[in-house]
Amino acid sequence: MGERVRYPDHEARHPWLERLLNAYQLCDEAVRADLAEQTTRRGVAIACGPGCRNCCIDQVIPVSEFEVLGLWWYASEILEGPVQEELKQRLLGYGEVGECAFLVDGRCCVYPLRPFVCRQYYVFSTPCAPGENVFDTRLNDAFCAGQSCARDLAWQLIPLYGVAEENVDWLYESGYVSRKGKHLHTLPLDNIVMHMKTATHLRKARNA
Ligand code: SF4
Ligand code: SF4
Repeated sequence: MGERVRYPDHEARHPWLERLLNAYQLCDEAVRADLAEQTTRRGVAIACGPGCRNCCIDQVIPVSEFEVLGLWWYASEILEGPVQEELKQRLLGYGEVGECAFLVDGRCCVYPLRPFVCRQYYVFSTPCAPGENVFDTRLNDAFCAGQSCARDLAWQLIPLYGVAEENVDWLYESGYVSRKGKHLHTLPLDNIVMHMKTATHLRKARNA
């Protein structure tokens, strides 16, 4: 079982972060179990692997508010150096479906905080060709893993919207979280750049 990533100081400062990281861990565990089962059942290996990134290009990425907040936090408070500088340039010119803004030098620069859809989408057999939508070209090779943990994820995330526990189950069943979803490329991601500057300033002040 993979270890949950931990950022104790940040989680203490941002209570939502602890729940988001718990949710990502639950999702990753469910994905791993599904992939092991599917690989055995199909007798075919997963095509996804390091360096494979066509799924980060020309795809609409649905995200909820707290997934966006996670990207925002990681990009401004954890990333640093040349990767953060490159990301700044990408965020300032962003706004179209094209290469995901967070794909820096061919790698996901926010990997520990990548959204759910980026954790759950897999392809079997052969890697996606550039521009290929596997749902159109070979539906049987596409696999959305980790669906069984959706209710557990709801229990981590729905209370973050100020919802009382007795309402979590029925709101989950009514599609509450997906109704709050947005498409990543439509969001004002350039605002993250301003927050990067504030975060750098605060970090320097804390370390002074
Ligand atoms: S979904 Fe397609 S492009 Fe993305 S990692 Fe898997 S095989 Fe590669
Ligand atoms: S967030 Fe990362 S994994 Fe998801 S589309 Fe962007 S670069 Fe790819």
